[in-house]
Amino acid sequence: MEHNQENKLHCRVVLFPQSYTGHLIPMLNLGYALYSKGFSITIIHTRFNSPDPTKYPNFNFYFIEDVLSKAKTSSTGSLDTIRVLNETCLEPFKDCLSHIMEVSSKDGEPVVCLVSDPMWVFAGIVADQLNLPRLVLRTGGLLAFVLYDSLPVLKDKGYFPIQETQKEEPLLKVPHLKVKDLPAEEHHNVLLNMVKETKNNCQGMICNTFKELEGSILDTLQAKMLATPIFLIGPLHKYSSTSSSSLVAQGQSSITWLNEQSPHSVLYVSFGTVAGISKEQLLEVAFGIANSQQPFLWVIGPRLLNGSEKYDELFPQYLLESLSKKGYIVEWAPQQEVLAHPAIGGFWTHCGWNSSIESICEGVPMICLPFFGDQMMNARYITDVLKIGLQLEKGVLERNEIEKSISRLMVGKEGRDIRERISDLKAKAKRCLMEGESSYESLDRLSSYILSFCGQKL
Ligand code: UDP
Repeated sequence: MEHNQENKLHCRVVLFPQSYTGHLIPMLNLGYALYSKGFSITIIHTRFNSPDPTKYPNFNFYFIEDVLSKAKTSSTGSLDTIRVLNETCLEPFKDCLSHIMEVSSKDGEPVVCLVSDPMWVFAGIVADQLNLPRLVLRTGGLLAFVLYDSLPVLKDKGYFPIQETQKEEPLLKVPHLKVKDLPAEEHHNVLLNMVKETKNNCQGMICNTFKELEGSILDTLQAKMLATPIFLIGPLHKYSSTSSSSLVAQGQSSITWLNEQSPHSVLYVSFGTVAGISKEQLLEVAFGIANSQQPFLWVIGPRLLNGSEKYDELFPQYLLESLSKKGYIVEWAPQQEVLAHPAIGGFWTHCGWNSSIESICEGVPMICLPFFGDQMMNARYITDVLKIGLQLEKGVLERNEIEKSISRLMVGKEGRDIRERISDLKAKAKRCLMEGESSYESLDRLSSYILSFCGQKL
C-alpha cells in the first residue's frame, strides 16, 4: 500500500506497543493505517527488543530505558518479561509521553490520543492522569478475548485446574471449544490484567480482525465492552508496504530458494517467535517432515530450542542429509512474502494470531500445532469452525502422525477442499479493505472518532 499523506491532519497519535514481535508488528501496521488517514505518528518503545527507526521513516520514535535492556538480556516473550517491564516502565513512559505532548503542542501538532497494547497495565492510568483519550489495540483474535474475560466464571464453575479426564470435553456455551483449549492457570494473571486494561479507562478497542472472519463473536464482545466502541479494521498487515521481515535483518535466501520450487509444492513450517519445544519433539518434527518427502521451508529461530542448542548439532547426520535434499532451513523468513509465494502449498503453524491471519490472507491451508495462550483457541477456530486447517495435538507429537498430516494437507483431497474454503476467505479478506466494505469503513469511523477528541472532522 502507498503511504502518501496529502491529507495531513496536523494532529498526532502516540502508539505504545508491547515489546513482543507479534505485538509490535500489528501496532506498526496500525501506524501505517492511521498515517494514510493523515495522522502524524509517534511510537514509544522500550529499548528492549526495539525496532530500527531508520526502517520506518514516516514515524517518530522515542525509546524508554528499561531494566531488561540495561541487563543486556536477549530473552523475550516470557511472562517474566511482561511482569518486569510492567513493574519498571511506568515512570519512564509517563515522562516520555508528557514530553511528547509538550513538544507536539509547541509544533502545532497536538497529541490527540494514545493507542496502547493492553499488555501494558499502566497506560490507562497514565493517559487519565495526562487527560489524554486512550484506545487499545487488540493484537489477537476476538474469540480468545471473550474467553479470557470469562476465566473467573470458568474458574468458579470448577474448570481449573484442568483435569486430565475432562480435557476432551466441550466447553459449555462456547461452540467447538474443548476444555483443553483453555489457557493454563499460570497465564491467567497476565491475561486478566490485559482484559482489565482493555475495559478500564479506555475509549475504544481496535482489533486486528475483520467482520467476515469473526463478526459472529462481535455481539458477545460488545456486550462485554459495554458502550466502548469497537473497530475491526484488519487485516492490519495489508496497510504496510514493508513486510514484517524488515524487523530482523536477513537476506532474501528463502525467496530465492522458493523461486526454484513448483507451484503449491512447499510446506512452510514456523512456530513463531516465542514458542519453544523439547529436543525430543524437535526430532519428531524433523523426522515427520523428512519422511513426508514433501519440499519444505522451515524456520528454526533462536527461541524454538530455548536459545541453548543448535538443531544441526542435535540431528544425526543422515537426518540432516535427508532434510537437505528436500528443504531449506532458516533462522528467520520474510513470512508475509513467503506465504504469498506461488510455491507455498501449506503452512504448519503454531497459530499465533498474526500467522493465522497472514495465512488466511494468502489462502494457504494450515496444519495447526498450538502451544499456549490464545493459540489453542485460534487453532480450534481454524480447524473446527472455519475448517481451513488440520489440528495436530501437541501431547502426541509423533513422526508418523506428522507425516500423515502433511500428506493429508499437501497431496490429499482433504487438502484440496481446505484450499477451496480458505481461498474463499482470502477473497473476503481482500474485499473488506476496499472502499465501502467492512474494514475500510471501520477505519474511516475510527479516524473520525479520533479526530472528534480534538473537535475536528475528517
Ligand atoms: N515472523 C516472520 N518471520 C519469521 C517468524 C515470524 O516474519 O521467521 C513474523 C510473522 O509474520 C508474524 C510474527 O512474526 O507477523 C509472529 O506473530 P504471531 O502472532 O504469529 O506469533 P508469535 O511470534 O507472537 O507467537
